[in-house]
Amino acid sequence: MPEGQHWDKLLAAAIFAAEEHQGQVRKGHRGSPYVTHPLTVAKTLFEIGGIRDTQTQVAAILHDTLEDTPATKADIRDRFGQAVLDIVLEVTDDKRLSKMERKRLQVVHAPDLSLPARLVKFGDKLVNCWDILHDPPEGWDLTRRRHYIQWGADVLAQIRGTNAPLENAFDAMLAEAESALDFRIQPFDTVNQRPWAP
Ligand code: ZN
Repeated sequence: MPEGQHWDKLLAAAIFAAEEHQGQVRKGHRGSPYVTHPLTVAKTLFEIGGIRDTQTQVAAILHDTLEDTPATKADIRDRFGQAVLDIVLEVTDDKRLSKMERKRLQVVHAPDLSLPARLVKFGDKLVNCWDILHDPPEGWDLTRRRHYIQWGADVLAQIRGTNAPLENAFDAMLAEAESALDFRIQPFDTVNQRPWAP
């Protein structure tokens, strides 16, 4: 498909996400609208990961709508199709579970993700860890920031081999975090010592 053919879908996804996330603001970031997060994930996949696949990009833009907004599966299926819904479902946590259990399950389930879902997961963790490193939410102490980035590293350790440029960017972020937050990322074979031990 020639580039540009699917702009209508990308723009429709951006509008849908903006409307669904309406009123939500990001922690940190001087209270900027939440939708800048999924849009940044899509931009990161495009610019760093070289991802041009429209379904993956639309899913990236919509990736938090089922988890964090009133949007339903039918809303997404009707507007963007079953394939996009399937990707979004793969990266949606079950909010009935405790936070720690959701963290644990992200590590456990990462190897089961499809390629598009792995890409969205990679972009999401990369953007979130950048945020925690450079613009942490108010009240987050060093320990909490270290734990968050360690958890991101543990999830992505399960899906290495997905996209080299994204992994290089993530590794650069980890090196910067180790220096700025003065800690060492623990290797995945020690994951059972973490609070979210799988
Ligand atoms: Zn996200």
